[in-house]
Amino acid sequence: MSKQAPIIQVKDLHKTYGDTQAVDGVSFEVMKGEVFGILGPNGAGKTTTLEIIETIRKQDRGEVLINGLDCHQHSHKIKQIIGVQLQSSSFFDYLNLKELLNLFASFYNRTIDPSEILGKVELTDKANQRIKQLSGGQKQRFSIAAALVNQPEILFLDEPTTGLDPQARHHLWDVIRGQNQDGITIVLTTHYMEEAEELCNRVAIMNQGKIVAIDTPDNLIKILLKNGFKKERKVQEANLEDVFLHLTGHGLRE
Ligand code: ATP
Repeated sequence: MSKQAPIIQVKDLHKTYGDTQAVDGVSFEVMKGEVFGILGPNGAGKTTTLEIIETIRKQDRGEVLINGLDCHQHSHKIKQIIGVQLQSSSFFDYLNLKELLNLFASFYNRTIDPSEILGKVELTDKANQRIKQLSGGQKQRFSIAAALVNQPEILFLDEPTTGLDPQARHHLWDVIRGQNQDGITIVLTTHYMEEAEELCNRVAIMNQGKIVAIDTPDNLIKILLKNGFKKERKVQEANLEDVFLHLTGHGLRE
């Protein structure tokens, strides 16, 4: 798939809340077919940036174009081609997974096959269960399923694996990779650097409302090393996560 054409163009975005400059002149492009990561410490402005692109929040200054269309002028059209992962706490608990997906599809005037969508996130066998009966990893996968009902071109995931155990996290990575292989452009935020290295073609690193670096994970590491960076502790060939996965297995026990 061509990764040359920008599907998202963010130009000089600014957003202030009272005295807090949450987003301070952010510009970047996301190419069609990319997995693009936004990284940064707490309060860096990642979610605010994401929510402006998702048309949930309005910027004070700057511009966001999706497929060349201004996000706010064409918010109705934009909403047809994006999928936003909601937190599982925002789902009604009196409906089962199949019923919830049908309800979301009705918001888009679409008829869907809930089993097909649940299959994409490996929840086929949970179709008749309710959100509260799911594990944390299953809830996260369901929230991706809900974002897929309108067959989006772009999927936005805000910290999709926060709070999950290593097995559930690896499983969710497979789901995200699968969606990207099906042609969906993915923009995600994460606090897990390993996740960014595993999934993202390019990452933007934000700090205090600004982008301080933007490149492939490999290039960012090479630039750091070229500038003379040396780790104080020698890196071992395995880490504690490898030990954990070795002892508890890669399989899910949900
Ligand atoms: P985290 O990693 O903790 O989720 P973030 O990088 O996503 O952080 P934002 O949630 O975008 O950061 O917040 C950026 C700044 O804007 C923070 O200082 C935050 O307190 C502030 N902020 C965010 N939303 C609001 C709001 N609705 N009202 C006031 N201030 C806000």
